Order: sequence, then C-alpha cells, then structure tokens
Amino acid sequence: MTAIAGDLRGSSSASNPSEEPTEPTEATEPGQATLPEDSHYDADVIVVGAGPSGSAAAYWMATAGLDVLLLEKTSFPREKVCGDGLTPRGTRALVEMGIDVSEAAGWLHNKGLRVIGGGLRLELDWPQLASFPDYGLVRPRADLDHLLVRQAVKAGARLHEQTSVTAPVLSRQGRVVGVQAKAGPDGAVRSYRAPVVLACDGVSGRFALALGLQRNDRRPMGVAVRRYYTSPRTNDDYLESWLELWDGPPGADHAKLLPGYGWIFGMGDGSVNVGLGVLNSSAGFQKTNYRTLLTTWLDNTPEEWGLREENALCPTQGAGLPMGFNRTPHYRDGVLLVGDSSGSVNPFNGEGIPYAMESGKFAAEAVVQALARPQGPGRERALAGYPAAMAQEWGAYYRLGGAFVKLIGNPAVMRACTRHGLPHPKLMRFVLKLLANLSDPHDGDASDRIITALTRLTPPLR
Ligand SMILES: Cc1cc2nc3c(=O)[nH]c(=O)nc-3n(C[C@H](O)[C@H](O)[C@H](O)COP(=O)(O)OP(=O)(O)OC[C@H]3O[C@@H](n4cnc5c(N)ncnc54)[C@H](O)[C@@H]3O)c2cc1C
Repeated sequence: MTAIAGDLRGSSSASNPSEEPTEPTEATEPGQATLPEDSHYDADVIVVGAGPSGSAAAYWMATAGLDVLLLEKTSFPREKVCGDGLTPRGTRALVEMGIDVSEAAGWLHNKGLRVIGGGLRLELDWPQLASFPDYGLVRPRADLDHLLVRQAVKAGARLHEQTSVTAPVLSRQGRVVGVQAKAGPDGAVRSYRAPVVLACDGVSGRFALALGLQRNDRRPMGVAVRRYYTSPRTNDDYLESWLELWDGPPGADHAKLLPGYGWIFGMGDGSVNVGLGVLNSSAGFQKTNYRTLLTTWLDNTPEEWGLREENALCPTQGAGLPMGFNRTPHYRDGVLLVGDSSGSVNPFNGEGIPYAMESGKFAAEAVVQALARPQGPGRERALAGYPAAMAQEWGAYYRLGGAFVKLIGNPAVMRACTRHGLPHPKLMRFVLKLLANLSDPHDGDASDRIITALTRLTPPLR
C-alpha cells in the first residue's frame, strides 16, 4: 500500500497544485475556515464519518493504495438507530468487502420478506439471481458498523475516533482542501488537509450544508423510529413488513388506518427490532407523534408477541430517511457526498445501508482515478465520474421511486394496491424485485427484463 500511496501522494500534494492556497484568507462563510500558507496535505483523502458509507469508501480507497484519513466523532462500538435488516443487496456489499457473513460468524440469515396487509400474509422468498445472493441478514448496527470500520482499518485506512469535524477548510479559489475538527477529550481544534474530502456524515448532512448544499424538499424524505423488545418472535427466517398499521384490531369496524409502514425483525438473541416509517408524501408527515404511533400499533398486535411497554429494552428512537437523491450535486469543489449525506436511501423500501456502501465504492473508484492524475481539469473529470456513476446506477430507478412515494402517500391508492396486489403471489414476486432493487440486468427472466426496460426508458435523476 505505502509504495502506491507514495506515488499517488506525489501526484497530489508534491506537485504544488494551482488550487493549493499561497496565502491565508478570511473565511467566506460562517463555519468555514481557510488553509494557512505553509500547508501540506495530511492524507490523500479525508473521509468524514465512519458509518457504512465512510467505512466502505475508506476500505476501497485504502485497498487501492491511497492514504486515507477516516475521522469519526464517536468511538466504536457505538449504536446507530436502525432496523438492522439487510436484503441480499446488503449481503452482496458485505461479501464484496471480504466480510465473513456466515451464521458461524454471528450473522442471522433470512430467506425473504413476509408482507402483511389487507387481511393477508404472504411470504416471498428473495429471488434466485446471478447478481445477488438469495439471503438477507440481520445484525445490530453496533456490531455491523464496528466490523466495517475494522475492515477499513485492516486495509490501511487511518481511523481517528472522537474527532468531530466542524467545518470545511477552503482554498482561496473556494475549493475544499481539508477539514477543521475538534479532537480528543479536551476538544482541541485542528485542521487536516487533503486534496479530496468525502462527506459521509449521515442524514444531518452538516458538511454539505456548510458548503450551501441544501436538501431538495421536493424529493422523497421519510422519518423512521425503532425500539427493541424482548419477544418470542426473536427467531424468524423472514423480515416482516406491515403495509398497514391499525389503531385497533386490524379490519375491525372501529379500527382506523394509521399513517406509515412497519417492520418486525427478529434479532435471534431473545429480542426483536420493531419500527415504522412515515413518508413526506403522507398527510401525517411531521404532524405525527411517532412514539405514540408505534405503541398504538403494537398495542394491537397479539399479546403473546410481547410487544408491550414492560418488555421494551430501550426508549423509542428515530431519525430521518433521506431518499431518492434529495441532496445534489453529489460532487462539487473537492467534496463528494456519499450515503445518507447524498440522499441515497431507496425510496421504494427505505433501505439505506447497501446504498451507503455502494455509493462509498463508486466514490472510491472516482477518487482513485482522480488522484492518479495531476491537479487540474483531468482530475476534475475523474471526480465528475462519481455523480455520473450515481445517476447511471440509480438515477432512473430513483425517479420511479419518487413517483411511487407520491402515489402511496395517498392511503386510498395504498389500500387498493395492498388489497388487489397481495392475493397474487406472482405479481408480488415481481413487486418484491422492483421494491428491493434486485434483478439481473443481463440474462434475467421476464420480470427482470421489465424492470430493466422501465429503468432504461426513464430519464435519470441527478
Ligand atoms: C429508524 C431507522 C431504521 C432503519 N432501518 C434500516 C434497515 O433496516 N436497513 C437499511 O438498510 N437501512 C436502514 N435505515 C437507513 C440506514 O440507517 C442509513 O441509510 C445508513 O446508516 C446510512 O449510512 P451512512 O454511512 O451514510 O450514515 P450513518 O450510518 O449515519 O453514519 C454517519 C457517521 O458519521 C459520523 N459523523 C457524523 N457527523 C460527524 C462529524 N461532524 N465528524 C465526524 N463524524 C461524524 C457519525 O457518528 C456516524 O458514525 C434505517 C434508518 C432509520 C432512521
């Protein structure tokens, strides 16, 4: 690694690139700093945040020989509010990074999705495909994120924990050439410099915001909450998804439909992860008390499942789900937005971990190519390859997802889809492929060809 890193560093820092500032200047915006005159780069690339996007990006860049500085405000292991569920897309991303996902290594495998709605219950197995394995996984995020960051460190990334990035550092030309951070127990402020920075700091998108990159409120956004309970439902071969949430026994005359969609994922350790999400296309978005909504729904699930206050293992916690590219551009002035910071959660199913890891890989590919070129237009063209790859991979699919989110925000449409769709397993197997983004683009069956045609005909979002 070091030999190649040395070569690459030579091409980035030692060549005194024109973007490197020659004199200190005033910060142009609050929350931004400028680089002092005698600056040298501390790394080839800085990654802000060591969640799945940051660790995956750091892993791929370090594997290619770059000197990667991974800055994380917490220390591992640490919790992250999540459903802890992975479809085969997540399994594939982990396998690619060389992570042992066997049951012997502590992973809980699942064979599909159980869908509940319209008085029906349907178990749909993950499809048999060339492109993806046929099983999903469950693992608490405290474990998953720790495993991922360890893999990045093993590949050579330098992890600094307890280091909270507070601002970008700008060159005179307004390009980001590093970050300012508070580090260690005394919160000492220092700056770190690199020719490229990856913003992998999650849904808050603070690094992007400091550069004026706002969220686009016309694109999909969700809010989700989750809580762990002790429950006999802890061992389950399927991820369970509730398309309808009721405030009484489902279907009873007096029961009312609540906004949102729920999940119950067995954790295999005596507990379950239970949660729900509400989309910004729903009338209930932001007007809802999500904690009350969760307990109202759970109070109407069977008593024997144990999803009641006395079995709760923690308070209800929640966070935003930034979907459908709701923050763009994904590259500007030396900064790549990755994972939740780029609004990359799948609007069809609220899944974010695989997209965080895959966007980390796309970003890594662009940065590795960029840093092998001298500073200037050639390097910029390579970095622009990142938003192009994002648009090519998911741009069309996410445009369709945005339309889907608007449609199902109308409860009447959602109810009609549930009632008329669920009784038809063949149709639902196609819907599962579409919603979980699991198809074979080449040599697939008829349903794969329909999905490929749909995405080819749709202009990509950027
Ligand atoms: C309730 C809920 C349930 C969910 N369930 C699922 C699910 O079951 N499956 C799924 O695939 N997805 C799920 N998601 C989505 C998923 O959690 C995210 O998409 C995923 O975590 C995004 O990864 P990331 O690396 O982009 O961001 P994060 O996982 O948020 O990681 C960001 C990292 O950056 C660090 N950081 C933040 N600011 C700074 C700073 N200033 N300086 C240094 N470090 C910083 C944070 O500490 C953190 O480690 C769920 C989300 C919610 C809210």
